[in-house]
Amino acid sequence: MKLLGLHHITAIAADPKGNVDFYTRVLGLRFVKKSVNQDDPGTYHLYYGDNTGSPGTALTFFPWIGMRRGRPGQGQAYATGFSIAAGSLEFWRERLARLKIETGPLETRFNDQVLPVFDGDGLRLDLVFTAEPDARTPAPSADVPAKHGIRGFHSATLALASPGATIALLTETMGYRLAGESGDRARYTVATGGPGTYVDILTDQSLPRGLNGAGTVHHIAFRVADDAAQFAAHTEIERRGLGISPVIDRAYFKSIYYREPGGVLFEIATDQPGFTFDESVETLGTTLSLPPRLEPHRAEIEAALPPLT
Ligand code: ZN
Repeated sequence: MKLLGLHHITAIAADPKGNVDFYTRVLGLRFVKKSVNQDDPGTYHLYYGDNTGSPGTALTFFPWIGMRRGRPGQGQAYATGFSIAAGSLEFWRERLARLKIETGPLETRFNDQVLPVFDGDGLRLDLVFTAEPDARTPAPSADVPAKHGIRGFHSATLALASPGATIALLTETMGYRLAGESGDRARYTVATGGPGTYVDILTDQSLPRGLNGAGTVHHIAFRVADDAAQFAAHTEIERRGLGISPVIDRAYFKSIYYREPGGVLFEIATDQPGFTFDESVETLGTTLSLPPRLEPHRAEIEAALPPLT
């Protein structure tokens, strides 16, 4: 299997407007796509990332209005890590304090400082201040200078009580390899390694069993270059005896889905065609984008969605 790292991460939110404000204004990501949940077109699917929503930068949300809060814990993708330059800790500490954003205690993890931040629904984001090379360019932002900006994902942390079967899947089938261990955290990487590839396995037995809901991750997606690599991955997952979906065309990428043995929903998504499939780089996120099969229903879909400016 030829995975290239993390592709996108999708989480659940309860308030579309608050979600847009937090990710664009507070974190300085670009709002790259306003679309609908293709399996539930009465609700939005919102995407944030770098200037084009490049694979490895796109954090996306299903904002179900009024959705009850979930409980972060075991059996979930517990935290989403963002890669930020090592010297930017004070910028973010000052900024988040001034904006009265909830943060957790600063941690040292491997060689990096990590500041946990929580969005309005309680979703945990780890700002990872790292000296590891990361050449990705942050989204242009009026509020966050480029040198302090989020460069994309650093890692996804899976909280698992008994991670053996998940680690076997990652290392025997998905091409991941151990990059380091520290306390109750083991870090795995794939392909060229570095920020944007890491999957951390956290075996913190004090965490409760996770419950899905607002403020929790719905699934994490891994990158493949093209359809051929995705087909090969599909074959390998099937060979391992896991149930896997057929290829689903999501317009911006093609996807296959399977649940790993620890309970986290995994997806493998193609890098192509990307978010400029139906909008120019300049106008990304400015109109409601619908996949071609839903376009005939645009009027009724737009009428049912809450306004979002
Ligand atoms: Zn997805």
